[in-house]
Amino acid sequence: MELLRTKNLKVYFTQKKEVIKAVDGVDLFLKKGITTSLAGESGCGKTTLARAILGFYKPDEGEIYFENEDIIKKENITLVRENIQIVFQNPFLSLDPRYTVFSTLYEALSVFRDINKSRAESIIEKALGEVELDKDLMYRYPHQLSGGQLQRVCIARSLINKPPLVILDEPTSSLDVTTAGTIINLLAKLQEKRQITFFYISHNIKLIGKISHFCFIMYRGKIVEYGPKDLVYNNPLHPYTKLLKKAAHQELKSIPQEEMMQLEGCPFYSRCSSRMARCEKEPVSIELEPEHFVCCHLYS
Ligand code: SF4
Repeated sequence: MELLRTKNLKVYFTQKKEVIKAVDGVDLFLKKGITTSLAGESGCGKTTLARAILGFYKPDEGEIYFENEDIIKKENITLVRENIQIVFQNPFLSLDPRYTVFSTLYEALSVFRDINKSRAESIIEKALGEVELDKDLMYRYPHQLSGGQLQRVCIARSLINKPPLVILDEPTSSLDVTTAGTIINLLAKLQEKRQITFFYISHNIKLIGKISHFCFIMYRGKIVEYGPKDLVYNNPLHPYTKLLKKAAHQELKSIPQEEMMQLEGCPFYSRCSSRMARCEKEPVSIELEPEHFVCCHLYS
């Protein structure tokens, strides 16, 4: 069962009279109760896509459905706020330094209901327990917590109203390796326990191999490969996915702006060692194994 689907989604920006196609005709779906990942290097459009789902950007074209409701419509913005939450990359910037952990979570809790502080205290205590934080941290300020503890507070905030969908936008990339590992384990436990639908965005395909059930690979605003994680991660077919996997232990360079502005042909053309004359025409997605789709002329 699908929780969310985008259809031919396009989000364009204009910079110095040039059009940047940040998201360019994306068809993506999130199945209920599993973790779906979106991988690609910085600048490929993945955060723009997440922000369009949250209503921060108005798409230039296309549709976004949450449980069959068109959430691009202005009147459905409450539906988005009630059902979709996000955890950002940097917990230090995501929390108000003037708020204690209690105030941050109480504010989130009070958005949709009237709740007195003593009732809130017991809900917040439970929420902290779920993210494996001691209740004694409840009246601390962000500067009194470590990076890992802050990200756990952000995760608790995203879950406190029990939304069915949580977007995780590079939630471990500002943390050290050990802390990042503990956050990944926590997310996996929460996912298993509560069957939350997670949409996990990352430049790191290795992480995606660990945490997701299904994944999409994005390059220059387009989906180039997608399918069950075991197929995409263990048997990558698109030349870009192969490159991502090969370079998993190092940071790939961001996609240059000039490349984002190229209009015709395969989006990976300029970097692909397998390119052929027909790659000057844009390939279409083909199903090569059950549910495993690849957008490349090598297979057409
Ligand atoms: Fe490479 Fe051509 Fe496939 Fe694009 S379509 S990834 S250029 S082989």
